[in-house]
Amino acid sequence: MNPSLGHEALLTWLRQSVQHGRIAGAYLFAGPDGEGPRQAAGWFAQLLNCEGAAPQPCGTCPACVKIVQRLHPDVSWLEGGETSAIKIDEVRAVINRLSLRPYELRRPVAVIAPAEALTDDAANALLKTLEEPRGEAVLVLVTTDPARCLPTLVSRCRLVRFGGLSLPSALVEAGAAEGHRDALEAWRHPTLIESRDRLRDALLHLIWEVRQALRRDSAVFADAEPPALAGLLEDLLELHEALDSHVNPRLVSALVHTRLHALSVRSS
Ligand SMILES: [Zn+2]
Repeated sequence: MNPSLGHEALLTWLRQSVQHGRIAGAYLFAGPDGEGPRQAAGWFAQLLNCEGAAPQPCGTCPACVKIVQRLHPDVSWLEGGETSAIKIDEVRAVINRLSLRPYELRRPVAVIAPAEALTDDAANALLKTLEEPRGEAVLVLVTTDPARCLPTLVSRCRLVRFGGLSLPSALVEAGAAEGHRDALEAWRHPTLIESRDRLRDALLHLIWEVRQALRRDSAVFADAEPPALAGLLEDLLELHEALDSHVNPRLVSALVHTRLHALSVRSS
């Protein structure tokens, strides 16, 4: 997904991925208000199951109508709130439902909103499910902020970000080792790095994280698409090389910031 896309374009992108059969088993719909992503989750369940021929939900076929009224037995809604946690028993019930043959729909869907309301036990139970194939079932988690969800959960979902989060705060999301996190922290601040050694180290951590992202194993760059990440990786490796040929570290760190800023502008 091109991270610069707005809400409308995100829906188009989802539509195209369904058209081309590129449907993930689990999604994380993230957005600041929680309401936009929640509506999008219902729309997505319709999209996956509409009986009409159009490339988007018709809104009038029995599947579309029952889904929007939340009356469809094949679309489960598990909702919690700031004060009401989503518990393990509720998650287990939904997982069981998904493992059964659907009543009518091609693609049964379970929506869990917000994912941050999951208790630790519930999130871990869900995690186990995400590691196993679940046939045609699709899980949609909704969150206001992926940083508030279990990182292992986030890394197993296709992240669709409505609205967006700036890169500096996204950098803090890295669930990696303390040293790694500290090294990435350097890129949160616009201050240029003076020391060549410190810069080399910080740059290597950043490169490592981008590589992880290309393997779909990074919460920091989880919303960036492989082409954008590959471009970033190439540029960072080039800058890392430039460091060895006596280029001013301040200049290199400024260039890295510019490069990261470009990615963050496109993802907001
Ligand atoms: Zn329809």
